[in-house]
Amino acid sequence: MNVDIQGIGMTSQRTRDRLIRRLEEHGIRNPDVLAVMRDTPRHLFVDEALASRAYEDTALPIGFRQTISQPYIVARMTELLLEDGIPDTVLEVGTGSGYQAAVLAPLVRQLYSVERNADLLRQAEQRFRQLKLHNIATRHADGHLGWPEKSPFDGIIVTAAPATLPEELLRQLGEGGRLVVPVGGAGSQDLIRVTRRGDQFEQETLDKVVFVPLVQGKT
Ligand code: SAH
Repeated sequence: MNVDIQGIGMTSQRTRDRLIRRLEEHGIRNPDVLAVMRDTPRHLFVDEALASRAYEDTALPIGFRQTISQPYIVARMTELLLEDGIPDTVLEVGTGSGYQAAVLAPLVRQLYSVERNADLLRQAEQRFRQLKLHNIATRHADGHLGWPEKSPFDGIIVTAAPATLPEELLRQLGEGGRLVVPVGGAGSQDLIRVTRRGDQFEQETLDKVVFVPLVQGKT
């Protein structure tokens, strides 16, 4: 196996197992989510200078004033999305480093991921190739618009915070489909899960979270 992927020292399996134990202690229960996170080399999703901190349970900078999400939040959002079984197609808004996508992809049939920043997207695509994650399709676009041509989705996960629920994304949810999204202003948001039942949208307000804002347009 490639030494980069297997890792040594701070990126060793023991270090990763410690992170998984921490996630379990904080209430993550889904065995599939825990297994994928144990196998996902998070150090490949951050700058080399930060690789030694990749298995700490914290968000880390990825450039362009953006962050790779905290592992606990990635686990929690993935678990919320998967709670009633494995969704067939999922849309992610905010590819960023690609870490959340790399955790989701092995758990679904097809993942679509939209990112507004072309440089971040290019780096994430390289990581997907390196890790042979072939069921991720990406798009450089403003995620407020979703990905209409590929809708409806069984699940949608948004990894940047809109001020209010994005209506276009609700429209692109299939029957029984779930949207997991942090909603609110800078500083603190509510993690919200919306489940579509016909024309009804059931809404659950879950944890307090902190995400970078979902911004308009692409760069
Ligand atoms: N899922 C990422 C989290 C990255 S942070 C990870 O695991 O690393 C949020 C990301 O959302 C940033 O990359 C930012 O550029 C992107 N983003 C913000 N507004 C967006 C929008 N309107 N459309 C698509 N991506 C957006």
